[in-house]
Amino acid sequence: MYKRLTGMQDILPEDQPYWRFVQEKINQVTALYGFQRLDVPILEEAALYVRSVGPGTDIVDKEMYTFTDKGEDEVTLRPEFTAGFMRAYVENHLDKRPQPAKLFSVGPIFRYERPQAGRFRQHTQFNVEALGVEDPAMDFEVMSLAWHFFSLLGFHGLHFQLNSTGCPNCRPRYVEKLKAHYQLHYDQICDNCKRRLVRSPLRVLDCKEDRCQPVIASAPRITDYLCDDCKQHFGQLTHYLDAAQMAYTVNHRLVRGLDYYRKTVFEVWVEGIGAQAAVCGGGRYDGLAQEIGGPPTPGIGFGSGLERVIMAMKAQGVAVPGLPRPQVLLAYLGATAKEKAVPLAVDLRLHDIGVILPFGNRSLKSQMRQANREQVHFVVILGENELAKGVAQVKDLQVHEQFDVPLEDLSAWLSGKLAM
Ligand SMILES: [Zn+2]
Ligand SMILES: [Zn+2]
Repeated sequence: MYKRLTGMQDILPEDQPYWRFVQEKINQVTALYGFQRLDVPILEEAALYVRSVGPGTDIVDKEMYTFTDKGEDEVTLRPEFTAGFMRAYVENHLDKRPQPAKLFSVGPIFRYERPQAGRFRQHTQFNVEALGVEDPAMDFEVMSLAWHFFSLLGFHGLHFQLNSTGCPNCRPRYVEKLKAHYQLHYDQICDNCKRRLVRSPLRVLDCKEDRCQPVIASAPRITDYLCDDCKQHFGQLTHYLDAAQMAYTVNHRLVRGLDYYRKTVFEVWVEGIGAQAAVCGGGRYDGLAQEIGGPPTPGIGFGSGLERVIMAMKAQGVAVPGLPRPQVLLAYLGATAKEKAVPLAVDLRLHDIGVILPFGNRSLKSQMRQANREQVHFVVILGENELAKGVAQVKDLQVHEQFDVPLEDLSAWLSGKLAM
């Protein structure tokens, strides 16, 4: 017997109402904010991700599904959306169109991570990017789209975690201060942080090890070292958030894992789903386009892992509507009736009436049991006697009445009843 690969999942029919609901809310919220869908390939040149995400990050060092294809090219299964979006934006000259380019996508991403609750090696991400505008009002619009999305899903207790990671003008000065602080406490910190200090120093603030917590708590804060431009950007963004009464906490530890972030970084947290409360994370990445050989292009976006979102919906007790089911079961008795029933089922469906046709030549009792199990509204019964008269017997299971309906009137009759 074959088994699923570790960290992979099957999404069974009973979970699909959640997926349908989430997809509908994605369509609704992106239409409200004027974002258009862009789909990029799942497979890209490995170098695109190495260059943009950056060596020294967990994604590039440990988590990418990279392999050599039959043409000897080194390729990677998309570990995140932003780099591919940026590549598509430059390659398709979307920068020549009116700006900003407001784009979104939904699809699988792949990371070879240690599997844990709500985290899979293949997972589905809702990704939003706004390219070509530096205005902090754009940061606010992207953040409010996220907020609005989670509100539409029925979450309560939303709030932002917010930070600025500075820019190439001010970040180096902060990084020196941070490194100096860590040198003073070098004996206290974990081996991982010692490596991070060399390769990706901001990430020491993200460490979960107990021994590192006092060092993080006493570390200098980047918001005290921002240049005027970054300070003004951050101030304007918090002003918009205040005006919209969206709750936020300035979290000095929030740096996100990726090297290309500039200025704004944020997460959306929801109540009641335990310690890992983030359902969405993102930020501004004004330097990324140049990093991959494109024109200077500011951008801000976020990604949200939908498996985690659905897990959080269940934890908060969010109810979703069921999927539409056929409301008619077409029962038949005997071979002649079956000859009539098989094409009749198709005809009714062509008239937009959902029909369940029982299989195997079973007794009427067994077919009625199926009708109850499937919770249909009507059972249409074709028997020898009915056929001789050119009628079908229709049982309304909700009001427990039955009718003889001429076969040529059946679709109109059922349509009328089902529309009531
Ligand atoms: Zn700056
Ligand atoms: Zn550490």
